[in-house]
Amino acid sequence: MTREPIPGQRAAAPVQGAGHDTGCREESVQPDMLRAQDLTRHYPVGQGLFKKGLTVKALNGVSFGLARRRTLAVVGESGCGKSTLARVLTLIETPTSGSLVIDGVDVAHATAQQRARMRSKIQMVFQNPFASLNPRKTVMATLDEPLLINTPFTRRERHEKIAAMLGQVGLRPEHAQRYPHMFSGGQRQRVAIARAMILNPAIVVADEPVSALDVSIQAQILNLFMDLQDQFATSYVFISHNLSVVEHSADDIMVMYLGRVVEYGSKSDLFAGPKHPYTRALMSATPTVHKQDRRIRIEIGGELPSPLNPPSGCAFHARCPHAEERCRQESPALRHWEGAQVACHQLEKISG
Ligand code: SF4
Repeated sequence: MTREPIPGQRAAAPVQGAGHDTGCREESVQPDMLRAQDLTRHYPVGQGLFKKGLTVKALNGVSFGLARRRTLAVVGESGCGKSTLARVLTLIETPTSGSLVIDGVDVAHATAQQRARMRSKIQMVFQNPFASLNPRKTVMATLDEPLLINTPFTRRERHEKIAAMLGQVGLRPEHAQRYPHMFSGGQRQRVAIARAMILNPAIVVADEPVSALDVSIQAQILNLFMDLQDQFATSYVFISHNLSVVEHSADDIMVMYLGRVVEYGSKSDLFAGPKHPYTRALMSATPTVHKQDRRIRIEIGGELPSPLNPPSGCAFHARCPHAEERCRQESPALRHWEGAQVACHQLEKISG
């Protein structure tokens, strides 16, 4: 389902401190539900009495905003930092530095009470619904638990809410008494989505929510996400390596490489003309049935470098067909370029 931006809402949230502007979109009055600024998450590893400690830089200065009822897709190869970002956004992990403001509250300076309240506003849908649902609990018990903890509803009110929620995700009232193993993969993901939505969260972070499902079911689940967003005005962060999924569901796209954002803009701009060499290579590798949409395949050699020992300069330089000496020395900052924000030294040359 492709939707137009809601009038009065921003098309893509800008990153502070970017360079010169060659055509960025209009600012909007719509405030961000979530704003991340220079977010980092580092993990010390291998420390010991005689060992020098190393640091895995899983997230390295990530900045973005997410407005109400918008979907931001985060894409990139395995190991690019997408799942770490998901864990930081859902408060499972705390950022090493940077700020994360959710619905006006700074996570870093929030009290324990505020953090508990924020947790009910941010929910997560995982890749594998079979692993994320408790096999010993019926659907009723699974959906009742968050209501029992977070709301003053009576038992009867909770059960009414659960029955309504099951209908909203395309399940029947009798499904409430079943266990996860009694469902198909698609139905299990519907239960997981119902659990995420039952508290009417402001933000849902979905980590590869359809990649474990049959292709025939994936579109149904994506459409369900979009329908629920229309009903509940929820903001989504979709983590995905699949650009077809992203094209179906996102408003804005953030491309990550080795813990950094390399390109960030509206879906329409990115699909019309990806600017960063890495985004171009990703797009060219996306299969499409329409002949006119096929791009010339751009091969990128090698593997994603280790975040334990990232390359100097631009982290993509060893795989980039446009790399020059400056790329090996100097890390490129994000700068506005033709409606998007792109981290590359050679945009003038590549685009020209
Ligand atoms: Fe390629 Fe250089 Fe741009 Fe990095 S900065 S993407 S190495 S051209």
